[in-house]
Amino acid sequence: MAKTNASDILTADWNPIIGCERYSDGCKNCWYLDGIFPWQKRLGRIPEEVEKNEHHVFATRLDVESLRAKNGIVGVVQHGDLFWDQVPEMIIHKVLDIVDTAANKKRVVPKYILWTKRAERMANILTQRYPEGLPAYLAASVSIENQQTANERLPQLKRIKGIRIIMIEPMLGPITLKNHLPVEWVVVGSETGSGARHISLDWVRKIRDEVKTKDIPFFIKQLGNHHKKSVRILDGREWNEFPQGFKK
Ligand code: SF4
Repeated sequence: MAKTNASDILTADWNPIIGCERYSDGCKNCWYLDGIFPWQKRLGRIPEEVEKNEHHVFATRLDVESLRAKNGIVGVVQHGDLFWDQVPEMIIHKVLDIVDTAANKKRVVPKYILWTKRAERMANILTQRYPEGLPAYLAASVSIENQQTANERLPQLKRIKGIRIIMIEPMLGPITLKNHLPVEWVVVGSETGSGARHISLDWVRKIRDEVKTKDIPFFIKQLGNHHKKSVRILDGREWNEFPQGFKK
């Protein structure tokens, strides 16, 4: 689906595989489990027999042509977590094979973003598959929500050579990234929807200052909702910076 919101960092997503289960506090109001999965099930886009706690592979989407049609910044497996331990390693490699093939067939090559909370599994697979570093079209992103998840997951991200992204969403507490930089991009967002948990602008300011001191691109997705419209302004401006070569 093409993404037109200014708060979205992606141009498109590609979901040949779906599935996940809650993993940490950031998953409490999971957009996929509580929103996308029941909605798509109601529409009949997910087979009746597939349960919420299972992964499912869409054979028709697990194909180069279905990815080749997508441009810009493409989220690879947004409906769940590709590195969930229920997803067989063989399937993860099949997804990466398709990304590699699609990238080599494009005249203007998109940027493909992988992301996960299971940072160790992602780092193990990517460092083995790409020992010299990620290809330029591929980025690895790790989601964190507080200092504990930052300290647990970001050393794993550091093991990967190439474009690395820290996604702080939903931001649930103060965080310092001082032991975890540099990376190539930092993105921050609050939780959204009814029951969204609080984000403090001071937490976001601190991250912005750490990131900008290192000259790293910084993006704010949203800082809460006001009358159903997301709030994105911090200290008088929007923060919409992308890494070099990333174009929506
Ligand atoms: S890891 Fe992501 S997709 Fe999985 S339960 Fe948590 S928020 Fe949802």
